[in-house]
Amino acid sequence: MTLVVAREGGTSWIAGMTCPCGCGRRLEMMLLPEVRPRWQVAEHRRGPSLYPSVWASGGCRSHFWLRRGEVHWCRD
Ligand SMILES: [Zn+2]
Repeated sequence: MTLVVAREGGTSWIAGMTCPCGCGRRLEMMLLPEVRPRWQVAEHRRGPSLYPSVWASGGCRSHFWLRRGEVHWCRD
């Protein structure tokens, strides 16, 4: 699992990753404080965490938490 964070001028503005379900789609999470919805990224030694959970609207409808580089699936 690779989370790519785009930064500009010291500001992280978007995080992207390939959907961990294997469908191949790209998930993008906005990080800027003025947008909704927005996510927060925390970097840990073992990997990044995202808050809140990530969900894919439409398609595979994946819903998961990314915690310290690991995917934790939400079962609805
Ligand atoms: Zn998927």
